Amino acid sequence: MTIVLATRNPGKISEIEALLTGVRVATAASFPGCPEPEESGRTFEENALIKARAVAGFTGKTALADDSGLEVDALGGAPGVHSARYAGATASDRDNMHRLLEALAGVADGDRTARFRCVMAVVAPDGRTWTSDGVCEGRILREPRGESGFGYDPLFVPAGYESTFAELDARTKNRISHRAMALRRIAEILGDLKDIPG
Ligand code: IMP
Repeated sequence: MTIVLATRNPGKISEIEALLTGVRVATAASFPGCPEPEESGRTFEENALIKARAVAGFTGKTALADDSGLEVDALGGAPGVHSARYAGATASDRDNMHRLLEALAGVADGDRTARFRCVMAVVAPDGRTWTSDGVCEGRILREPRGESGFGYDPLFVPAGYESTFAELDARTKNRISHRAMALRRIAEILGDLKDIPG
């Protein structure tokens, strides 16, 4: 069985390959003309399914897509599915972090709880779908710390740690992250799916 990853992000591809042992992995980039649909869904699950359906439909193979973001309790779950564009369509990671810190300016330390969430979706060539949800609980600091990672990593301290995601080494982050949690579950599902054609 070959599974086609809807993502073109090299970091995500290597994370997924490491966890999906026993499955041949290809990426959408090796299928010229493969669509990259707009993430127009209201939930992570809708967006992951939109992407996986587009790739499965185009390639005729089983496709895997993910969608993720940051949910901040004091902001009613924002930025959520808008995490990448929180400060505008062309916002940088730094712009998004700045907007988040402004939004949380009056919020006490104990109320700065948040989680990263990731939903993985698998769509088989015959149209069947499976999804899995992974979360990593934590809190938002008052200023960024650390240089590694991406997105909101310098502001996010996972529960049980004192370091931000941007201060932790990649191995630790990849063990406890929302993506790792969602991937482990989807890997179990795929283990049961190896007889699916395509
Ligand atoms: P996507 O799943 O690639 O669409 O990511 C959505 C956005 O959520 C990213 O652009 C980041 O802003 C944020 N995000 C998702 N996962 C992480 C993470 O592991 N660390 C930091 N930010 C993340």
